[in-house]
This record gives sequence, structure tokens and C-alpha cells, in this order.
Amino acid sequence: MTLRLLLPFLAIIFSQTTTFALSSVNINSNTNPSRTTMSEIASVLDTDALAVEANSFASANGIQVERKKTEESEDNLFLGAPMSLLPNAYPEQEFKKACDVAPAFNELVERVSQDAEFLQQTLGGGVSTMDPFTAKILKLYHQVYVDDSTANAPAKSADRLGILRSDYMLHSDDDSYQIKQVELNTIASSFAGLSCKIANMHRYLMITTDDEKNDAVFPPATGVPVNPALDELPLAMKVAYDRYVERFTKSKNDNDNPPIVLFVVQDGETNTVDQRLLEFALWETHKIPVVRRSLTRLNSELSVDETTGALKLLKQEVAVVYFRAGYAPTDYGDGEDGIEWNARLTLEASRATKCPCLGYHLAGTKKVQQELARPGVLERFFPEKDETNKVAAMRTCFAGLYSCGDDATPEDLEAIRDVLDGGEAKYVLKPQREGGGYNFYGEELAQKLRSNIERTGDSLELSEDLAEFILMQRLFPPEQNAVLMRGGKVEGTGDSISELGSFGTLVVGSDGKVVHNRYAGFLLRTKFSGVDEGGVASGFATLSSPYLC
Ligand code: ADP
Ligand code: MG
Repeated sequence: MTLRLLLPFLAIIFSQTTTFALSSVNINSNTNPSRTTMSEIASVLDTDALAVEANSFASANGIQVERKKTEESEDNLFLGAPMSLLPNAYPEQEFKKACDVAPAFNELVERVSQDAEFLQQTLGGGVSTMDPFTAKILKLYHQVYVDDSTANAPAKSADRLGILRSDYMLHSDDDSYQIKQVELNTIASSFAGLSCKIANMHRYLMITTDDEKNDAVFPPATGVPVNPALDELPLAMKVAYDRYVERFTKSKNDNDNPPIVLFVVQDGETNTVDQRLLEFALWETHKIPVVRRSLTRLNSELSVDETTGALKLLKQEVAVVYFRAGYAPTDYGDGEDGIEWNARLTLEASRATKCPCLGYHLAGTKKVQQELARPGVLERFFPEKDETNKVAAMRTCFAGLYSCGDDATPEDLEAIRDVLDGGEAKYVLKPQREGGGYNFYGEELAQKLRSNIERTGDSLELSEDLAEFILMQRLFPPEQNAVLMRGGKVEGTGDSISELGSFGTLVVGSDGKVVHNRYAGFLLRTKFSGVDEGGVASGFATLSSPYLC
């Protein structure tokens, strides 16, 4: 049987729960998943042969990551990116929901970013006390945008560019699986480049293993959808770039020395191919030049023109600053008030369009996510009658989110009590960090709460140490069998779960007018079921694609 024809059946067989609602496929609840094992499937598919095909496609198309440089070797070496050999079955209706709601989340981030009072209330108290990193971003935000000073007029005249990725897991509270938001990334949302290539690879594998190629409808009505991320992200950058040129440099007509897009990157980054795919697309499609720099190096190379607010990297004017770094305390190696923070402030204070600006960065914090899920808060940002549909669409994506700070409500305390009473498996505890590997699960979660809470009868006294944490309902996506590959080799076969990311792009004028607001592509990450954390770059997950059913 061909892979293309086989996949919908695999979806059913792989689904360990018989309640996985695949919209176009009727699942007989008598289906016994254990009857067909992966090895039987593999014998039909010839996994080894497929892995050879996948590796060849991956190498030829740059589905690669850079190997970490070591003290012994500074050489650039590229390896096959972590990837799932086959796409994963995904309910089409839920996939579509994630795409459709992207523009609403884009707008939400814009509106939150402009509400200094909300950001201060949400992030200024216990969160800032316990997390100096968030405190610093908030402080710079105030310094540049809120404090009553004309010194930062250039920053206030800058447009805003958002490249967001809202991440979801399927979860079922009753009898059907629905997407629930894991988090909303507003800085360094990665894998737009590689996820497009992976989708192409999965479609290729299906077509080429198809005995009935000639009848193949490409792309199939259902199957791996086309991923527009590698068009859409550069397009949003181009829109922002063109606006900058139009607003600030048009009269100069300086064709020989066009402004650049600055990619702010981490030293020692391994996910460089994903970033460079965007860079090369910007150049090939839009003839926009990119320069890559770390915050450390930038500090000595940046200047801002005192009268115009133009940002210069040495002699080149910067139109758009795209951050793929700056979200982790380790990106600021020189410490509080060090050179990296200085560079961040210089970038922000200029008239260049930032992706993200400080307000967008803050809007993507986990504490803000928790606050947005409280009753009435979405409505604060979408007060108009004709916006109720947007509010409803976003709200259905929210999982249970609870504060562990001094703003904890009786409902939050109820969830915390549930953990203390042995319900830890139903929750995840998250600090204000990005990039994977920081969350608490299971016994470690329970221990963390127990050691920071004094309980007298029903009353709880939370230590201030918990203020920067949010407690989240744990999501349990359906399991499917998967073959995962790392560095070009089959790493293993087993039950896996997936997380869908939906990209959104947004360009907003300094006057608040939204000029570009789009769904911009997807990412599916798949990891073995026993793995709690989820990042691809951090080594937990692999890149995959949804196979819509
Ligand atoms: P980060 O900013 O570090 O990426 P996330 O909130 O995305 O933080 O959490 C990291 C990973 O932890 C996710 O990719 C996912 O695999 C897992 N995770 C996070 N929240 C939940 C949840 N509520 N239920 C189950 N797994 C979760
Ligand atoms: Mg994440």
C-alpha cells in the first residue's frame, strides 16, 4: 500500500486513545491499537529505506542544525535536524482553528503592549521582585516609552513588527480533542524556515512512495498542508522595511547604501540554518540585505543619530531589528547594566522597527498569559461589540492558568491545594523563562510548592519565591507511534505527542494603525511521550508536520 493511502489508517492505528476525533474519519471505538504494532507497520513501509530517502531530502534541502562548537573544534559542521520520519495525524478542524485565530492573538499582543498600566500591574509586583530579568525589560519599557521625556521620541515614532508563534497541544476534557494554548511566543519564534522544509519532505515522501503517482493530487485535499512560513515571515519583514524606507529615507534616494535588516543572534547558536533560510529568502525574494550580530558585539558598533534617531551599525542604517536572541538572561553575559543591556537599549531607543519591541516582548511573558486568561481581561483589550467573536475564539484556546503570587484568587488557591493534595500530575509549574527546560512537573512540582507554602487547615501562605511562577493545567495530547531521527540517524520508535505552533505576523504603525496582520504558517514538534519538556533546539523534540485528517 502507498504511504499516502496508508497514513490515514496509521493515524487511527497509532492513536492510542480511541476518542481521537479525526473529523473526516470515523473511528470505530472497537479499534484495538495494540493489534497492529509499529514493527508491523514498519515492515509495510520499510522504515530504513524511508529514512535514507528522508536523509537525502533533508541534506539536499538544508534541514540541518549546526553542531555546537567545542574547545577542540571551532569548525562549522552541519547535522541533520531532529525530525520525525513521518507526519503526525492531526484533526483538520483544530488545525484550522489555530490558523484562524492567529490574527486575533497578533492584535492582542499589540494592544497589551500599549497598555503600560496593565503591564506594570501584572509584572511590576512580585514577578519583578523575584525575576530580575523581567524586571529589567519592564524597566527599559518604562524608560523608553512611558516616562515623560522627549528624549526617546525616535522610539515612539517607530513602527512595530510582530513575528509570533502560538503553541498548542490537543487536549480533551470530555470526548473530543481541542487545541489548548501552551504559550504565546513574541520573541525569537523559531523554526519557520525548517518547518517549511519538513512539510515539503513529508509531502515528497508520500508522493514518491505512492505507486499511483499519476493519480496523485498534489497537494492532497487532506494530508500535509502547504506551509507558507518561509514566504510569510520575510514578507512581513519586507512590509516593515518598506515602510521604514518610505517614512524615513525616501528623500535620500540612496540606492548604493540601502538600509539593512539586523538579525540579533546568540553566540554559539546551533539553529542557524533556520535563521539563515529567512535571511536568504529576504535577499532572494526582496533584495533586502541582512547583517547578523550578537548583542555583545553590537554594543561597540551601534550608534543613534541624535537628531533623527536613525540607528547605525557602523556606517549602515538599520531599518528593522529582528531578535533571535535577547530572551534569556545568558544573552546578557556582562550582567546588569553591562554591554548587552546597553546594546538592547540603544536598539530600542532608535527609530528602527523592532521585532519585537519591549512591549511585545513583555506581552509574551507567562505571567501575562495567565493574567489574560482571567475573566474579563480579554474584554478589556477587545471592548467593542463586534469583537466578541475574536474574544470567544481566543478564550476557547485557554487552558487552566493559575497565579502563585500575592494576586492569587480563591480559584488559584484551589488549584494549588489540589497539587498539595497529590494532584501534581494534572499541572505544570512555569517560571518567567523562555527557551525550554525550566518547567516543573510531577514530584518536583509538588516539592517546589510544598517547600514554599505554609498550610494551616485550609488557609495557604505562599512564599514570595513563588510570585514569578504560574501554575498551568497539564495538557495530555493523544499519543501516536512515531519514528524520530536525530543527526541523520533513527533515534528510536515509540509513543509520541505533538505540539502545534501557528505563526502570526503583524506590522503596526507608530500611530497604532495595523497595516499587516496575517496567519503565517505552522510548526509541528513531536517528542516521545515520556519527555516533559518540548524544545527542538534544547534537544527534547523533533520537527514534524501535521497530516490533516
Ligand atoms: P518555553 O518558553 O520554555 O518554551 P513552554 O511553556 O513552551 O515554555 O514549555 C516548554 C515545554 O513544556 C512545551 O513545549 C511543552 O512540551 C511542555 N509544556 C508546557 N506547558 C505544558 C502543559 N500545560 N501541559 C503539558 N506540557 C506542557
Ligand atoms: Mg515553548
